[in-house]
Amino acid sequence: MKVEVNKDLCIGCGACQSLVPEVFELEDDGLAASKVNEVPKDLEEEVKDAIDGCPTSAISDKE
Ligand code: SF4
Repeated sequence: MKVEVNKDLCIGCGACQSLVPEVFELEDDGLAASKVNEVPKDLEEEVKDAIDGCPTSAISDKE
């Protein structure tokens, strides 16, 4: 599973980073990005929660 943040939609709320800091980080531009190429299997559920919880639906799952 891979994830991608659409920076045109992200508002930098930090929710994804709070939920799964191993996968998401806020970059210097204040917007989130995925910092892993592949989501570790044991974090997939948390990442799905982050996708569902993103207020602007900026995170997409690329499988
Ligand atoms: S939860 Fe969504 S809007 Fe908030 S920082 Fe993450 S990607 Fe951006």
